Amino acid sequence: MSRSGPAVLLEDYGAGPRLAELEAAPPGPGEILVEVEAATVCGTDVHIARGTFARLARLPLVMGHEGCGRIVELGPGARADAAGAPLALGDLIVWAHNWCGACYYCAVARQPTLCANTMGYGWGPYGGRLNGTFSRYLHVAAASRVLRVPGGVSPALASSSTCALRTVMHALDRLPPIRFGHTAVVLGAGPVGLYAAAAATAAGAHQTVLIGAPANRLAAAESWGLTARIDIDGTSPAERVEAVRQLTSGRGADLVLECAGPPGAFSEGVEMVRKGGTLMVIGQAHGELVPVDTTGLKVRQITVASTLSADISHFRDALCFLERHGQRFGFSRAMASETYPLERVGEALDAMAAGREIKPVIDPKLTDRQ
Ligand SMILES: [Zn+2]
Ligand SMILES: [Zn+2]
Repeated sequence: MSRSGPAVLLEDYGAGPRLAELEAAPPGPGEILVEVEAATVCGTDVHIARGTFARLARLPLVMGHEGCGRIVELGPGARADAAGAPLALGDLIVWAHNWCGACYYCAVARQPTLCANTMGYGWGPYGGRLNGTFSRYLHVAAASRVLRVPGGVSPALASSSTCALRTVMHALDRLPPIRFGHTAVVLGAGPVGLYAAAAATAAGAHQTVLIGAPANRLAAAESWGLTARIDIDGTSPAERVEAVRQLTSGRGADLVLECAGPPGAFSEGVEMVRKGGTLMVIGQAHGELVPVDTTGLKVRQITVASTLSADISHFRDALCFLERHGQRFGFSRAMASETYPLERVGEALDAMAAGREIKPVIDPKLTDRQ
């Protein structure tokens, strides 16, 4: 069947994204054609649209890397999801980036997020395959692992799990288990930080401290039973380090999850972690050099770890986490904010950039009704 639909196309950083009607070719062997049910906006999309990541993105591109969709056509070759469930028309699914499965990092190191031959949705280039989520239709590549979304998880939340939450799950996978006596500090109150604070709490941490801004993001975690929520607007780094020490008998946190981004967050994390503790770097995305007291790191026996993206096992952890704990943390209310049609993606990007919203939702089906 021949289909086409609107998609947000970025051809030129100066001109910005525009809406285009693009053909949704029938899926090839192993491919899946989905109708995007919900997409969500990420800080990364703002950087891509503005050209900050021009060295990595490949124009022209169909924007959007977070999303979930309903299967409208299955390419030749029977497909099951990564957990073994059969796939059928109408199923709501999420998908991981496309890793080759054959390079050293995929096959030997078992860290496909380091794959040498990757294709990332929303990063381009567009070449006849709809590989971005700000689009009516999307081609899930044959090499992308997919998962069915559990019944109790809304499309908007499932979409938000495909970037922020699955990255948090990857970070936790790379760490020793959180213990019931642990204090976890989360730096950054964006979607990654909020999910990290919820996950650390659900994993059993004795104390969880969330540090970030603006106030509306900290307020999203109001009912989560966190030990403290500290606004970086109006406090100094020294005051925040002191607050963490006060909560931990002067020792510092067992675990600091850096989900903030700016260089100062790394330095603050080093100060906040206890001797022998771990600083997990998830947010850093500035490209600047940060001075580090490497002797101090050694003497204090600090572990510095880092995480980028996630493989399909972390997507499954993320969906299971939402299924089990979604209601407890009220994520639907806390995370998902206004819903936009494709024509208003520019406004959604602005709202994300300004921190007015936590996770703007894009619903391509709304576009028809405008
Ligand atoms: Zn993202
Ligand atoms: Zn690979």
